[in-house]
Amino acid sequence: MSEIHNVVIVGSGPAGYTAAVYAARAQLNPIVYEGSITAGGALMNTTEVENFPGFPEGVMGPDLMDAMRKQAEKFGAKLITDDIVEMKLDGEIKVLTDGSGNTMKAKAVILATGSAYKEIGLTNEKRLSGRGVSWCATCDGFFFREKVVAIVGGGDSAMEEANFLTRFASKVVLIHRRDSLRASKIMADRAMANPKIEFLWNTEVIDVLGADQMTGLKLKNTVDGTESEQDFDGLFVAIGHVPRSELIVGQIDLDAEGYVKVQGRSSKTNLTGVFACGDLVDHTYRQAITAAGTGCEAALDAERFLSGH
Ligand code: NAP
Repeated sequence: MSEIHNVVIVGSGPAGYTAAVYAARAQLNPIVYEGSITAGGALMNTTEVENFPGFPEGVMGPDLMDAMRKQAEKFGAKLITDDIVEMKLDGEIKVLTDGSGNTMKAKAVILATGSAYKEIGLTNEKRLSGRGVSWCATCDGFFFREKVVAIVGGGDSAMEEANFLTRFASKVVLIHRRDSLRASKIMADRAMANPKIEFLWNTEVIDVLGADQMTGLKLKNTVDGTESEQDFDGLFVAIGHVPRSELIVGQIDLDAEGYVKVQGRSSKTNLTGVFACGDLVDHTYRQAITAAGTGCEAALDAERFLSGH
């Protein structure tokens, strides 16, 4: 408790681990709170990553995270598989409390808590979560062998998950609220060429049906407003993410959507000695490589800040 660390990094994933590699190589002896169940971040729930430079054959998301984690550890980062549950960030010495009740003091903090799955916001979506409703095809796809599943969303995540689900499901119906996809062309083309994927355009899910287990969906046509019901064994929600900034609301300047505001081309927040990176600050790009890039920036900003003290 009495020891004051140079820097504590909250969160793992490409941003947190890259910040850890840089901070450790700068001899700052960083402490990294990886998260108790979310260690490694969103890439732990993906399959093959084809666009991370340096891997011409692609790399599995969990393998990439494991390699980054090992690299951080090799240079001396101390990794703790626990959550930070409370932070007091305004003073010169920052005080963080973890899920086991330990308190850490640090001169600088790097926030890299990433983002969480966005929900549609339906009462029965929540109630039937784990009973047919899921946000992670790589985690739960296996349970839908020879079943008919729906997936909501029109971005790259929805395309990726839909393709992955065809390994198990007999049919995947992709439900999108508009008549054109947001996904990149390569991902959209791949999904459209998959004979097991059907597209339901201009359609919104307005209710999830079923008592103890999901049995179907109530749908609404966004053009003519007509409502209908259709049987499904499962629903995968892939409509984007929300920043995981709940612990710092009221302490740090956030934008209207909850992303941490940083100053210009830096990772500096409005609080001295507090830096933010990765999906927590990024509305726009949200790629593993951009998260890693901003993690690097945060470590360099923290290093400069500490050397000035
Ligand atoms: P996204 O690009 O923000 O797409 C979200 C999709 O969900 C959009 O089509 C959106 O519809 C729809 N949507 C949002 N809210 C909705 C709601 N309440 N009800 C129904 N539909 C809703 O999110 P993402 O697909 O998770 O991708 C995020 C970022 O990660 C992107 O930059 C993407 O390129 C990247 N990514 C890359 C890969 C890859 O390269 N392998 C894989 C996954 C993700 P509208 O289109 O109408 O807005």
